[in-house]
Amino acid sequence: MPELPEVEVTRRRIAPLLVGRRVARVHTSRPSYFFLTPPARLRRGLEGRELGALARVGKYLLAEIEGGSRLLLHLGMTGQLFADGVASVRLLSASRRASVAPEAQRRFEPDRHTHLRFEFADRGPAVLFRDVRKFGKVQLLAPGERSDRLDKLGTDALAITGEALFAATRGRKAAIKTLLLDQAIVAGTGNIYADEALFLAGVRPRRPAGRVTRAECERIAGGLRQVMLRSIETGGSSISDYVAPDGSDGAYQDERRVYARTGEACAACGARIRRSVLGQRSAHWCPACQR
Ligand SMILES: [Zn+2]
Repeated sequence: MPELPEVEVTRRRIAPLLVGRRVARVHTSRPSYFFLTPPARLRRGLEGRELGALARVGKYLLAEIEGGSRLLLHLGMTGQLFADGVASVRLLSASRRASVAPEAQRRFEPDRHTHLRFEFADRGPAVLFRDVRKFGKVQLLAPGERSDRLDKLGTDALAITGEALFAATRGRKAAIKTLLLDQAIVAGTGNIYADEALFLAGVRPRRPAGRVTRAECERIAGGLRQVMLRSIETGGSSISDYVAPDGSDGAYQDERRVYARTGEACAACGARIRRSVLGQRSAHWCPACQR
């Protein structure tokens, strides 16, 4: 699932293909829960208009549109936002992926999972939004319209301080990891980076949040920033479907210390990495390095 770093890498790489370009046509798939704004209204609100700045808010992308409206995009679990003409095995179904040699990759052709395709007045490359599991979202916000999805978000994971985290966790019995995944507390965090930050901080994912010390909160906040900035630098984590807008894979998955490394030796101490289930999500941690 794309988390803050993957969304930020997407923003940086897709921005040059959106910002300052005038939308000529929008092709959509049929109405579904993917469209918070019905496709017909989305087309009317975008066609003929120029796109402005592209921002990231938590795991959302937010594009300004000429005239004052805004376009909200969320990649969900398997969303892929990319330029027309790229090739990547991640743009194939899982079954086809296994049977295609990398050199046989062909230019992506829009398929039934392609829910949005923007064509531009300059006749340059189109931009596509593909989402196999369709947990992604698209919404057009009218000028001045607020989004309850954005209003609900807590502090961005890159900006959270130990002090704020300490305050948010006082009196909470829930596991610290569960609170880190709560977008109303720390926006942008997901399973991979929460596990990695807790490892760096030396705190077990299951520890009741209210019992994490002030010093540990500082280490967790610092750990989140460290792993996320490093992931952005390496292009994000391409573990399942995530692909950058130019078709390239990220490389952060090679640097992860605990996430999905169950049974492997901890790089710091040699103990076996464990996996436990926490609120229907898996948590990965080192029994020796984390307390
Ligand atoms: Zn260890």
